[in-house]
Amino acid sequence: MKLCLPRIEISLSKIQENARILCEFYGSKGISLMGVSKAVLGEPAIARAMIAGGVKFIADSRIENIQRMRRADIPAQLVLLRTAPSQAEAVVESADISLNTELKTLETLSFHAKAQGKIHRVIIMVELGDLREGVLPCDLVAFVRQTLMLSHIQVTGIGCNLACYGGVKPNKRNMRLLSELVNIVQNELGIALAVVSGGNSASYEWANSGQTIGEINNLRIGESILLGCETVSRQAILGLHTNTFQLIAEVIESKQKASLPHGEICQDAFGDIPKFKDRGIRERAIVALGRQDVLTAGLKSERRLEILGSSSDHIILDSENYPLKIGDEVNFGLDYGGLLSAMTSPFVSKEFVEDEPRQIVRTNPTPTGAELN
Ligand SMILES: *Cc1c(COP(=O)(O)O)cnc(C)c1O
Repeated sequence: MKLCLPRIEISLSKIQENARILCEFYGSKGISLMGVSKAVLGEPAIARAMIAGGVKFIADSRIENIQRMRRADIPAQLVLLRTAPSQAEAVVESADISLNTELKTLETLSFHAKAQGKIHRVIIMVELGDLREGVLPCDLVAFVRQTLMLSHIQVTGIGCNLACYGGVKPNKRNMRLLSELVNIVQNELGIALAVVSGGNSASYEWANSGQTIGEINNLRIGESILLGCETVSRQAILGLHTNTFQLIAEVIESKQKASLPHGEICQDAFGDIPKFKDRGIRERAIVALGRQDVLTAGLKSERRLEILGSSSDHIILDSENYPLKIGDEVNFGLDYGGLLSAMTSPFVSKEFVEDEPRQIVRTNPTPTGAELN
């Protein structure tokens, strides 16, 4: 079968195995996982691989991705990570649970839940220092009390998010504060919170450090499952696959050229003034992949192949130590930004590969579920 270029090759068995190992590790500490699918646009086959690995929920920040998974009959609770009031009707329709921080949005959700004859479940996010979403701790009890007055909303849990905007690390102090807040809310309001969702892939070190876990019983994990690393220092997690995704592009030019451009230097295509080192005449290759396809800074090339630069549609490689000819395929690893951008590009085809022997399974827009059985 002829494969498209550029393409991203996805190993579902590696994703499943990463999910399984993480579910076992966190499960041994009483922590369930939500598999976060936003970097893969809610791709149903990947959600199924996460579920086969043991995650209990699939979470995504985009309602379009949640709707896609709902249409594909994904057999897990679907959680929306970011709730906008203008989407409230669709949220109630497609998501089982949503994360919230604003009363006005909760009122709108309750209104639509009533209209649809549903009770919509919510997790209230609390701000613990990272300064992205969250109700301030001092306002939390009053906020939950007001939420409890909404007729068609059920408060399922409390959560927090760290290490995203402010780069604040989950640690003993902020995690203990979250547990204390949970206890205060439960005691003052006489409710039981089923889910205490303490963080994301940045929580690994905290969970692995032997700290008391307190009331935390859930994490929302994307990057660790997809790319096999934690996100405080981007270390690989022992035993996990870090090569679940490969981006593959085609060589369209291969020539010896000077390493120093000649002529008067002005701005490049993106308004930067480039600098070069003179290394004499070198073997250079161009691949048909560019910034319209992928965040090129998020690409990892094989050590002997150096990425020199990129424009919208071309990546220039120093191939002096890695001979390439026209039509050859070049493999790149991806970091989170690279993965997110490549999965979002309409120019990059998405292919599922099975590892041994190498077999290609085509993307099925409406998966039947058969591919995992
Ligand atoms: C994206 C996101 C996550 C997952 O983050 P990872 O670093 O990929 O584990 C968790 N929670 C929220 C609210 C998010 O937006």
